[in-house]
Amino acid sequence: MVPRFEYYPTRSVDEALTLLAEREGSEVVAGATNTLVDARARRKIPKAVIDINRLGDLRYARRDDGTIRLGARTTLTDCFSLPFFAEEAPVLEMMAAEFAGTLIRNRATLAGNIAYASPAADVVPPLLALGATIAVTSKARGSRALLLADFILGPRKTALAQDEIITELAFPADGETKSGYFKFALRNAMAISLVSGAVVLRMEGKRIREAGLALGAVAPKPYRVTQAEELLKGQAPTDALIREVARVAAATATPISDIRASAEYRREMTEVMTRRIIERALSS
Ligand SMILES: Cc1cc2nc3c(=O)[nH]c(=O)nc-3n(C[C@H](O)[C@H](O)[C@H](O)COP(=O)(O)OP(=O)(O)OC[C@H]3O[C@@H](n4cnc5c(N)ncnc54)[C@H](O)[C@@H]3O)c2cc1C
Repeated sequence: MVPRFEYYPTRSVDEALTLLAEREGSEVVAGATNTLVDARARRKIPKAVIDINRLGDLRYARRDDGTIRLGARTTLTDCFSLPFFAEEAPVLEMMAAEFAGTLIRNRATLAGNIAYASPAADVVPPLLALGATIAVTSKARGSRALLLADFILGPRKTALAQDEIITELAFPADGETKSGYFKFALRNAMAISLVSGAVVLRMEGKRIREAGLALGAVAPKPYRVTQAEELLKGQAPTDALIREVARVAAATATPISDIRASAEYRREMTEVMTRRIIERALSS
């Protein structure tokens, strides 16, 4: 049974922010696919829930000059049902296709996945590889923007204040990109990642102008592998370089051993899968 808590459906961002500031121990929910599971398991029971799931003004995906902007209520299903994503952010479409199952994807939001800050959050590596920033806002202090890489501080810890909500995710859309994504898990669907990773290569002819490479589930939080990105930058990659990049990426991983896999296995799969996604991205 789900424990009892106060429930506030909201009709505007302003109403949500006011309630959040006024109600002690309150938290926002979007899809509630983490919040309800945690409440039912009595891991974390909010005193009051501010529901932003009906706020139409937080559900959009658009291009503003050289920037892609996604409203905080963008769902995983949006990422592969809207043609916008295939054109502007195929790495998010690839990730969403491997995320949970249809029912969860229809409700789960990108922002909820980020705010929950699991080390295995599947939404985060693609957005890190894209160089995403997030906008957060509060009633008292207005809006601020920060790099996604700075927003997640560790397992279940973020830079979000209690009275703030995420309103928007944004990343640059400048020129031709090639993308790759992998989720390695013990089964093909409804599984927690053992290792996940994303690559976004911004191209200039056959050369890589800028590279974004990020890993998930092999450290306390998903992270950009800057050493590997530097190796790719400015290069027309050879097989030898791709192997070296994969080796460097795997060497940065600090995975745990648990019931699902040993740390050694996770590290080895990081190397194998990183090599494959760079190869796939370049041949796309
Ligand atoms: C069966 C099942 C399968 C799953 N499979 C996967 C999977 O394959 N990969 C994966 O990564 N995760 C998976 N999850 C976890 C979950 O679905 C995701 O993390 C999802 O993206 C959370 O989004 P939500 O909108 O449901 O968040 P909610 O549950 O509504 O919220 C989660 C947290 O984020 C906060 N939050 C939500 N929106 C905002 C906002 N706009 N501003 C500030 N804080 C906010 C809430 O306060 C809460 O702390 C799965 C869960 C279930 C139950």
